This record gives sequence, C-alpha cells and structure tokens, in this order.
Amino acid sequence: MTSLQAAGVEIRSEGRAAVFEEPTGPSGVRVRERPRTAPGPGAVSISIRAASLNHLDLWMAHGAQRVTPPRVICADGAGVVESSTVDAWKPGDEVVVYPVVCCWECEWCRRGENVRCARFGVVGEHSDGTACELFHVDARNVFPKPTVMSWPEAAAFPLTFLTAWRMLTTRARLREGDKVLVVGAGGGVATAAIRIARHLGARVFATSRSEVKRKRALEIGAEAAFDSADFGKAVREASGGGVDVVVESVGPATLSDSMRAVAPSGRIVICGSTSGVKAEVAMARLFWGQLDMLGSTMGNAGEFEDVLQAIGDGLRPVVDEVFPLDDVQAALTRLDSAEQFGKVVLSVSG
Ligand SMILES: [Zn+2]
Repeated sequence: MTSLQAAGVEIRSEGRAAVFEEPTGPSGVRVRERPRTAPGPGAVSISIRAASLNHLDLWMAHGAQRVTPPRVICADGAGVVESSTVDAWKPGDEVVVYPVVCCWECEWCRRGENVRCARFGVVGEHSDGTACELFHVDARNVFPKPTVMSWPEAAAFPLTFLTAWRMLTTRARLREGDKVLVVGAGGGVATAAIRIARHLGARVFATSRSEVKRKRALEIGAEAAFDSADFGKAVREASGGGVDVVVESVGPATLSDSMRAVAPSGRIVICGSTSGVKAEVAMARLFWGQLDMLGSTMGNAGEFEDVLQAIGDGLRPVVDEVFPLDDVQAALTRLDSAEQFGKVVLSVSG
C-alpha cells in the first residue's frame, strides 16, 4: 500500500475501515476490511476507539477534493496503542492523533512550524485516515489522550480545536476581554472557536441561519446570536462599536457583514470559505478601518500541545452525535443535512 506521505513514516489504515471509493456522496464511502501489519520503524499502531468526521470528509465523498480513491476518511482519532517501535509509547497507552501530515525532518518541522512543511497536509485527505480499527502513524503525531475525556470527546477535538486555537491565539492575537464574533455557528471549527474564546476570557457573539443553532450557540457561551442575513450593523451595536476579532469560515456570503461588524484595527481570521471561492472586499473599509485580514489553516504540534493543556484546564468539545463505524453513511448524511451542532463521531471499537 502506498501513501502520499513520501518521507518519514507511512500512514496506514488497517482492519475494518471507512473507505471513500467513489464520488457519489455518503453512499460512496463503504466499510472494507484491510490487511493488518506490524508498524514500521518510528511508527506506532493505534487501536482506534473513536474517529470524528469533518466537512472535509463530506466534500471528499462528493468529489470536491482532489483526492483519488480509495482513501480511508477522517483526520481525528483517539485510541489505545497496540504496538510501538519507539520508547515513548507502549501497548495500552491511551492516545490522540495530531491530525497533520508533515515530514517532521525539514527545517520548518524542526523549528516547530509544521504548517510550513512542504509536505504539510491533513490526515485522511493527504494520507489515509483514522476511520479504521488499526491506524499506523509517526510516533511524533501521537499525544496522550486527556484522561478527563470520553473516547467520543477525545476524537471530537483535534482538528477543529487545533484550527480554532491557531486562528484565535497565534493569528488573531486574542486577549482576555476581547470581543469575538463567530460566523456560522454550528460547524466544528465555529463551535470550537466559541468554546476556546470563552475559555480565554473573551466575550463571544455568533451568527447562524438556524434559530436552533443560535440557541445552542448561546448555551455554549455566546452572549448574543444573530441571523446570518445582514448581521453587520446589529453586531456592531450589540458589541458597543464592533468586535475585535471575527472568526470567518463562510466567505462570500458573510464577508462584507463581517467587515461591518469588526471594530477599527480589528482582525478577521479566515479558515475556510464554504459559500464560494471568491469574495468581494470593500477596500476602503479594509484600509480605513486599519483591519487585518488573516488566513489560517490547521496548526503546529506546539499549538496542539497548548490545546491539550487547555483541555486539562477545562476546555471541552461539543459532540453532536455518535454513530457506529458501520453506519458511516448515516453519519456523513447527518453532516450533509447541515443540522448538526458540533462534531459527528464514529465509534470504532472498544
Ligand atoms: Zn517538514
């Protein structure tokens, strides 16, 4: 079996696995049995207890990513070490996977800037993924599972919390007492951003098209929630002159309102663009407002450690629903319906 990861340890998904086989949507992802092997040098094999879905998996199933099937889906996984070729881990250790593909050897990786690695990618997109019984991965991708978490929680946080953490801290330089607007509450990164911003002492505002999701956003820490249509002025007024940081993942449909909602010298940090690939920017608003428009994706291993620390201090993900691995198509359909709030998890074994 080959992997797109050319250097370092090959990522392999074995045993029963949810495999993207053809771009027909959820029906194109099927559970298959793959041969089991021993881990190669530098690798750890993990008996996966739970994996979680991201929108990436759905886009892949619909053929929207440049991924040639077959590909085992899912970036997020937590489980028990089955066998290890390194001293750092032993069978029985409970672990989570840092969901980034990188070489671990280049200058950037050695400096802790994994996001700048030439081989940087996402587990389950640029390699096989965690929706399998036995997952082989570089030992440097393996971190201790927070003992306070259930298996579904441990599988729910990695990709979205890593992404939202880097957005809010490294990129948007969030400070205690800052006001944050999270656009499109309901998605995995958005719910993570609400939880993290609250954890870091920020005041949080949210938007969603769905009344149910607006209500849920309030339950997990937002102080006010607005309809996604025309929220710029309302957020500006409710926040007393605009927010300091906007967490954007919707793009063309909301960007101009996001730019209206932000205070002078505010930061708009963007990790995705679910409503289209090109957006118009009101240039005067950008320069006259002294705004920072920041791109961000995933995060470094050091930022993953910061997330683990925050979990130790009480930060938690939102789990929407747990499906058995065999019901992966139903789980993807749940994501496709856009009804979910928080993470859709696959229970794999144990
Ligand atoms: Zn590298």
